[in-house]
Amino acid sequence: MTKPEPTPPPNFIRAIIEEDLRTGKFGGRVITRFPPEPNGYLHIGHAKSICLNFGLAADYHGYCNFRFDDTNPSKEDIEYVESIQADVRWLGFDWDDRLYYASDYFEQLYAWAEKLIQDGKAYVDELSPEEIREYRGTLTEPGRESPWRNRPVAENLDLFRRMRAGEFPEGSLTLRAKIDMASPNLNLRDPVMYRIKYAPHHRTGTTWCIYPMYDWAHGQCDSIEGITHSICTMEYEDHRALYDWYLDQLGIYHPQQIEFARLNLSHTVLSKRRLIQLVQEGHVNGWDDPRMPTLAGMRRRGYPPAAIRTFCERIGVGKRENLVDMALLEFCVREELNKWAPRVMGVLRPLKVIIENYPEGQVEELEAINNPEDPQAGSRPLPFSRELYIERDDFMEDPPKKFYRLAPGREVRLRYAFFLKCEQVIKDSATGEVVELRCTYDPATRGGQAPDGRQVKATIHWVSAAQAIPAEVRLYDRLFTHHHPAATEDFKAHLNPHSLEVIYPAWLEPSLAGAASGSHYQLERLGYFCVDPDSRTDRLVLNRSVTLRDAWAKLQEVEKQGKRS
Ligand code: ATP
Ligand code: MG
Repeated sequence: MTKPEPTPPPNFIRAIIEEDLRTGKFGGRVITRFPPEPNGYLHIGHAKSICLNFGLAADYHGYCNFRFDDTNPSKEDIEYVESIQADVRWLGFDWDDRLYYASDYFEQLYAWAEKLIQDGKAYVDELSPEEIREYRGTLTEPGRESPWRNRPVAENLDLFRRMRAGEFPEGSLTLRAKIDMASPNLNLRDPVMYRIKYAPHHRTGTTWCIYPMYDWAHGQCDSIEGITHSICTMEYEDHRALYDWYLDQLGIYHPQQIEFARLNLSHTVLSKRRLIQLVQEGHVNGWDDPRMPTLAGMRRRGYPPAAIRTFCERIGVGKRENLVDMALLEFCVREELNKWAPRVMGVLRPLKVIIENYPEGQVEELEAINNPEDPQAGSRPLPFSRELYIERDDFMEDPPKKFYRLAPGREVRLRYAFFLKCEQVIKDSATGEVVELRCTYDPATRGGQAPDGRQVKATIHWVSAAQAIPAEVRLYDRLFTHHHPAATEDFKAHLNPHSLEVIYPAWLEPSLAGAASGSHYQLERLGYFCVDPDSRTDRLVLNRSVTLRDAWAKLQEVEKQGKRS
């Protein structure tokens, strides 16, 4: 497990860049890029890549381009193009005017393909996609050459131009690089460069009916943009030889590709292919469902962008894949919100309290501190009256030994208010359920201290019933019960049926009336919450971002003990 680090740790990518700066390899420049494919929403794995690419560029006084690798029109959508940009901005990064699209380079890529044909390095193939796969061979067996591999250049050129002109049906022809069908690297066994696809593209419309494969486009796009360090995940390590081959054949500028291990996060899946199934099959309520590991989901859940950036820094970059515990991300969220989220009181599962010795109809104002972590945050008035709600969990009729909160005959402190003593328990005669507590308060304990020095063992939260506002509160649990669902046979079999619990009405102190969508609060003792965009003036909706329990510290403790024993 990766340990939290206070400052950006040196890593192997920084070491490579610093060496390149020392030797002047790229003229002292650092130009990176973030190249998403617009075929889904961004997830926390992408955040790792975004923080890395934009972060390195900033640290070494270079810049980072934003480029959509939009080479597959059938899976791409303008909704994704827009959400991806919004999410990167939200995360706190800016690409100025350097927004590019692989599709802007289609004409150049086409011209380069003709050049390879003319140089005898590419050919038009008539094998079907299935045959191509079959001819490719395996890791232990070499591939077989296509019967169309040795067509004359003129014929290849003529066929390729007619492919572009739309003379052939989809799937009938491809353009392939002529490399080596016996190469131990399968990527070099005559990879497909172009396929025919009669699909309109979100940017080029119907201009093209042939589209470049990602592997044919990616390296050349980096080259066109003068990228110095092309940072990608480990699965592209075996593709590097192919990218290099293309650049060498074309005789154009070479960026340095560097691979790092992708982020895997526990109890979720990080792949658009899987996330899209959750959305389309209705297992979640859209890409921005607060249970999703997407940036849109995390924003709605109430994870501050600074917490996600800190998380990405703490996990570091390496070459070996591991599974990072979700508890570390939650730790970062809690740590960030703790600094500035105002504290308020609310009761999720209300139990009514009547204070028998408090005058009927009277309301007094108490003073509550907005954030003990931040003296500048000041205080606010809190109404107190004869009828309150407290948390059902804070009362037990027959308490076990270590339960120190309210019980018959016992006294507790009401946060920012008075000592309260439970005198009588009222039950529903039919069900036996506790429905109300009859209590007394001690007016001499205003502010929470008894002048006679007597102590209580617990402080509980509360709201004044008449002034409290009702709210819908959404509580979340892990989306999957398995720690690594993607590593199982059927990831959807491990969906957690209890990942969402909706409570209505919860009761909140009146200062929350009209709270703006996206604003953050700590409900004392209950967790950090964020106002959902579904909120209406007559129905506030809160999402719980995280509880206050630090599961990460516990994990670290368990790990330490494991190492000791
Ligand atoms: P997915 O498997 O979720 O579809 P992808 O790699 O196909 O991911 P892209 O849109 O191509 O998605 O990714 C854009 C950039 O984000 C790439 O440079 C990719 O390497 C990086 N990236 C994607 N997933 C992760 C991850 N889990 N950890 C780190 N970087 C990632
Ligand atoms: Mg991809």
